[in-house]
Amino acid sequence: MESNMMNDMHLGTERTDLLHPSGVSSESDCRLLAGVPLHSTTCLSSCVPTGLQQNPVGVQDVKQVVSTPADSNTASPHSPVGAQDTEPADSSPAFTNMIIAGPCSVESEAQILATAQALAQIPQVTMLRGGIWKPRTRPDAFEGRGEQGLVWLREAKQETGLPVITEVATPEHVELALKYDIDALWIGARTVVNPFSVQQLADALRGTDVPVFIKNPVAPDLNLWVGAFERFYKVGLTRLAAIHRGFAHYKESPYRNAPMWEIPIELTRRLGVPVITDVSHICGNRELLQSTAQKALDLATDGLMIECHINPDVALTDAQQQITPEALMTMLSALTFRAKQVGGVERDLAGLRGEIDDIDSELLQLLARRMEVSAQIGEYKKQNNVTVVQMDRWKKILADHVVTGEAMGLSPLLINKVFEAIHQASIERQSQIMEDDNE
Ligand code: PEP
Ligand code: MN
Repeated sequence: MESNMMNDMHLGTERTDLLHPSGVSSESDCRLLAGVPLHSTTCLSSCVPTGLQQNPVGVQDVKQVVSTPADSNTASPHSPVGAQDTEPADSSPAFTNMIIAGPCSVESEAQILATAQALAQIPQVTMLRGGIWKPRTRPDAFEGRGEQGLVWLREAKQETGLPVITEVATPEHVELALKYDIDALWIGARTVVNPFSVQQLADALRGTDVPVFIKNPVAPDLNLWVGAFERFYKVGLTRLAAIHRGFAHYKESPYRNAPMWEIPIELTRRLGVPVITDVSHICGNRELLQSTAQKALDLATDGLMIECHINPDVALTDAQQQITPEALMTMLSALTFRAKQVGGVERDLAGLRGEIDDIDSELLQLLARRMEVSAQIGEYKKQNNVTVVQMDRWKKILADHVVTGEAMGLSPLLINKVFEAIHQASIERQSQIMEDDNE
């Protein structure tokens, strides 16, 4: 199935000419520079998304990208009305494997231009991101360059031909972004939590059909995310996509924001919108990016957002999670882009498998934490001359766990096996600590 948005978005991925030094040597770039919006319908039938042709993945069908609006309408993937009752719309092949890369923040003219130029050399990169107004947890942190940054971002677009996207949080941001020819907007996780703000943004965009990417709200609240889409649909916007950037969590996790893959999958099931996975904000570090990106692709995401900076170590925001364009190139070439799974059953299974993986990861974190606490107890016992095993206490704990577990539908056999194994490992650890002392 097809959507206008996805067709249109891909007008921004015409990349044949990106390697031309002038950056304006082709018809498509001329059109872009002449200010013809990305969603211009005149382009729909005439533009072949050459970026796709360059894409080595080879799972896209270029013909489908230029399907007619009538094709799009039959699927109605973005209609909120009754969307829950229909088969999910499959994201367009045109949207498949969209790669949005760029710095967390636009910091200086030199930084954004150097980053953009390096990214433009990577064929898979389809859009340049750059934060202009940065939502910061604490005051006095770098809050973005504002309007000056938009001048530089537009310059980066003109020099490379890459369409650009930035975050907007207020109607003033929307007005300025449109004034500086920003091609697409994203709504940040901290803004999506506030329906008043989302409504103001939707109202500010009424009458346009700017592509809007809606990040998930900070909290794992699917309805709040769905509600944000509905606010934009209601003012007539049709070219909407989701960005999955993970969710705040209180538990131990290797992630900055827990992915909770089942939530974006359920969003797709309900609304049929394409989902881009923002692996940078999920991971919060460079080490997990590759595996998380692969996992996102395996779970049938439509594309990736990855923060890239020409010199990540000196980035003014999110330094620890940004990577160089060179590292991005290596990362992308090591990823396996699969033909997208489209069946409802497979999607559901992918969501459930993702949930299992998250739970297993939490279990591992919890086990590691339990062993740490156990080691601290071991130290304490050693210093106070207490024996390692205190059988009465353990028997009571195990009996309590069996009762609690049974009430949760868990068999006594499972509880006994799991906790015996954990207890045994704890005893071994504490005994080791005692022995170490005696050496
Ligand atoms: C960002 O993309 O730089 C950003 C601030 O993201 P989020 O809203 O997901 O925290
Ligand atoms: Mn960031």
